[in-house]
Amino acid sequence: MNIILFGPPGAGKGTQAKMLCEKYNLLHLSTGEILRNEIEQNSELGKSVKCIIESGKLVSDEIIIEILNLSISNNTKGNFSGYLFDGFPRNINQANLLDSLKIKIDFVLLIEVDESILLQRIITRKESEGRSDDNKEIHASRIEIYLQETEPLIERYSSSHVVKRIDGLGEINEVNQRINAALESF
Ligand code: ADP
Repeated sequence: MNIILFGPPGAGKGTQAKMLCEKYNLLHLSTGEILRNEIEQNSELGKSVKCIIESGKLVSDEIIIEILNLSISNNTKGNFSGYLFDGFPRNINQANLLDSLKIKIDFVLLIEVDESILLQRIITRKESEGRSDDNKEIHASRIEIYLQETEPLIERYSSSHVVKRIDGLGEINEVNQRINAALESF
């Protein structure tokens, strides 16, 4: 089972992705998390993307392709029942790349959360996790990029895939139950 998880920044993708991966034994491919690890390790790649991430912009597709290919080849899929893509694809180019990998996507999940709540969550997350891209101005630019480049992909997938819209409001467990119910209804 291969899943793409979409949702605006602050929708709770990372949290829900971890729960889903555990329940369904999926490999969690979070491009944001991979990039943050690189920054933490102060690698050449990390140094090259730090400023871009902190400004809320997208890093280049070439870098994303590189880290994704590496993660896939470093983790033999044999141990997992599928992939969970979190934060990828984020634009049309990346969606085309995913097509070319010939990984059959079984479900596309979209976690929907009202914009005013997103900002509130980002402020709270900044306090607990200290992510340097979690502040009001940068979040606004991340939302704008999401609306312009990522959200239109939902339409693209709707024509050929099962797309499930999940209400992302409420407690973490509540949202998780909604996602499980959506997946299990298939
Ligand atoms: P969020 O969804 O909360 O914005 P992510 O952890 O998915 O957080 O991503 C954090 C940042 O990492 C993004 O704002 C962007 O700079 C970079 N990033 C992550 N995934 C991608 C991607 N697929 N393409 C380009 N940039 C990405």
